[in-house]
Amino acid sequence: MASPPSTTTSLALVRQLRFCAGHRLFRHESKCAYLHGHNYRVDVEVVAADGAATVDDVGRIVDFSLIKKRLLGWLDTHWDHAFILFVEDHGAINAVQQSLPTKYFLLPWNPTAENMARYLLEVVCPGVLADLGVIARQVSVWETEEACAIAFLSGPPGLPPVALGSVVVVDDR
Ligand SMILES: [Zn+2]
Repeated sequence: MASPPSTTTSLALVRQLRFCAGHRLFRHESKCAYLHGHNYRVDVEVVAADGAATVDDVGRIVDFSLIKKRLLGWLDTHWDHAFILFVEDHGAINAVQQSLPTKYFLLPWNPTAENMARYLLEVVCPGVLADLGVIARQVSVWETEEACAIAFLSGPPGLPPVALGSVVVVDDR
């Protein structure tokens, strides 16, 4: 009798993170072209950087609290209660600059859920997780309870896009 095929176990963590932000979709053909906001949810899936199903002496890939601290810390600083705008969307950028105090983030791409997930996966996660020995393999950005976009690595992590985003906060209070 043939032996069953061998299987390999992989381990991953998923941490949920939430933030609130405004945006609009530049050149959108319908209502998403208006300035509006979402209660966003981000699910980040993390694996060991070496790809092995190894855990520490406690049995963890990494402690959940470190993922929260690093990634939610970045989200709080850069995207929470900010307008996330395409760097070429001069009309919307001008509008949020006119109303002080203001906080906005200039994204190198249109701020769809897809592009936000990609930005978190390619740019943000490598930066904030690097020294923890883990990488983000998948990032989901939920715009509503029904709809999310997923960005995932299909090979080893590559170089981040040349154009990085930037946050601007103007608050003289
Ligand atoms: Zn929207």
